[in-house]
Amino acid sequence: MIKGGIFQSQREDHYLCRKFRKKMLHRCVQTGLILVFLLFHLTGRTQGRQPTDSGSTMTSCRSAYLVPPGYHSYEEIIALADSLAEHFPSICRKVQYGTSIEGRELVALKISDNPEINETEPEVIFDGGCHGDEIGGAENLIRFARDLCLGYGADTLITGLIDSREIWLYLMVNPDGRVHMSRFNASMVDLNRDYGFMDDLSGGSTGPYSQPETKALRNCILDHCFSVYISYHSGMQQAAYPWAYRKESAPDMPNFWTLSKNYAETSLYSYLEYGQSYTIMYQTNGMSVDFAYGTAGLCCFTLELSVDKRPSDPLQYYALNYPAMLEIIRQSGWGVEGVVTDSVTGAPVEASVYVDYFYPAYNDPGNGDFHKYLIPGHHTLKVTANGYKTREGIAFTVPGQGAAIVNISLTPDSGWYARRVLSCYFPEDKPVDECYTPGALGSPDNIFYSLGNGGWIILDMGDTIPDMEGDDLAVYQAGSQPEGYRCYASTSMDGPWTLLGEGSGNAAFDLNVSGSARYIKITDDGDNSSSGADAGFDLDAVKDLTPHLTSVSSAPSDRPHPAGNMISIYPNPGTGQFTVHYNDPSDARFSVSDLTGRTLVTMQLTGPGALLDLSSFPDGVYFYRSEAGRTTETGMILKMH
Ligand SMILES: [Zn+2]
Repeated sequence: MIKGGIFQSQREDHYLCRKFRKKMLHRCVQTGLILVFLLFHLTGRTQGRQPTDSGSTMTSCRSAYLVPPGYHSYEEIIALADSLAEHFPSICRKVQYGTSIEGRELVALKISDNPEINETEPEVIFDGGCHGDEIGGAENLIRFARDLCLGYGADTLITGLIDSREIWLYLMVNPDGRVHMSRFNASMVDLNRDYGFMDDLSGGSTGPYSQPETKALRNCILDHCFSVYISYHSGMQQAAYPWAYRKESAPDMPNFWTLSKNYAETSLYSYLEYGQSYTIMYQTNGMSVDFAYGTAGLCCFTLELSVDKRPSDPLQYYALNYPAMLEIIRQSGWGVEGVVTDSVTGAPVEASVYVDYFYPAYNDPGNGDFHKYLIPGHHTLKVTANGYKTREGIAFTVPGQGAAIVNISLTPDSGWYARRVLSCYFPEDKPVDECYTPGALGSPDNIFYSLGNGGWIILDMGDTIPDMEGDDLAVYQAGSQPEGYRCYASTSMDGPWTLLGEGSGNAAFDLNVSGSARYIKITDDGDNSSSGADAGFDLDAVKDLTPHLTSVSSAPSDRPHPAGNMISIYPNPGTGQFTVHYNDPSDARFSVSDLTGRTLVTMQLTGPGALLDLSSFPDGVYFYRSEAGRTTETGMILKMH
């Protein structure tokens, strides 16, 4: 025994302990044993374990033969992830995003203080193992996870980063590929061609996000408000940022260029090239970085670790990248950050954040915080949110290091529009079109996205649109020459899609065919009526026409006498927008029906009040009904001009 429960093994360079305790770390540091202690964690727990390969024996043998010694297998990586989550519960949490085709775990480690809580800290994500035969990425990530955990409390930089950031290490995107030592997943699809942004069905992809492995990483990225994303690959040695699908620079190019330069310069590579993926690599559609940028506005790049996909020394490239990984976590908090809240209630508001001409970032719907990596200097912010008045022209300055803090308070208003582009296919004319997908978002503003001849786009409306009497959504076209398209709806971003109808120019659609829906797909009719610039349907906006309740905007002093015991509705009569105020805030179900008894609006209310928008309905008499616990209250609302 060396000291404090640490034993020397039969091999001189290995030490063992039965159970890791945090105070042991301090002993290791004191006695200079940190390195040997790490070796235990790398190999001790899983030593002697044979890979349980569910594939053929032949593949298994081939796989084992191709991997140089010292690399961790899929099983060992999962075991280490479990071990870290078990031994460092205060800073490490294992999150599973489903399983691969062959049933292997798709796993991320969240490393942060209070890992069970979603805090307002900047979030950063690294992934590895997208191509199963490129073994360096996953290896780096599991080693990095271990070093972060062991460094917490012992290393000032690591402790500070874990305390101030939410670090996500998505360990192995394609575990089946790794086990079979194949680039592809078990369905022989190249996962880095399957992300649905500017999808072209290359690499065996059968549709946008057609594989469980791509859906899993997609869901992880869409569920968080990451500011920075790095995807590890091998086969080259470079940092390659979006766009990969087209030659033209992405609007966020200055941010991409700066962050990848900073990565290259803080790494220990003697030279690491960085540049646009299309240019320094080759044209690729459906890559994860184009998806992360195109749908979520992340600052991101693919980091090709080594020309050799399976370098003999597993530590060499980890050592080259380790300082840059720490630095990028630090810089993931640079740029702009803030919290978007409701001006009346102070509650977080789900919002889209536009800076300058860059792609929009999305805030955390739970906490309302947003983070976008930006180059230093002067910028201008616009914040949009469904049910709120847009705020724009907010100037701020990003310091040389660190973040500008801009908290935004939004005033309730009406208007609900598509808020995120999830997927798209653009068939032709790339060079002559700006392909600005965010043009399809928000209210009609003559900033539009041309679908391309026969192209399509899938939009998230941000909320489920109920099927109500008459039309439920409207599609707006930019320009005066009507162009043809088809409109589909679904409750899932992955379909199946129900055709609502065909449109030409502005048109409204009824969800009576599909039922309620959250996702809208619009397909150009492919009649080639427009070629060259702005080919295909020019989509400006998609509006949710159904009435919504948003939080109350009027001050309580505006309030007239209560209409009943539970609630006040004012003004009543009114011209379209009514305030619903609960005298005693409680969890209540509120609904409005017309004279025929058909329900028009249903909402669950938890706050003190809400805005009831009946402006899309004809003047007349409506009835409301409020249920809270055993108390039911009904009354009349008169809408007139
Ligand atoms: Zn790769």
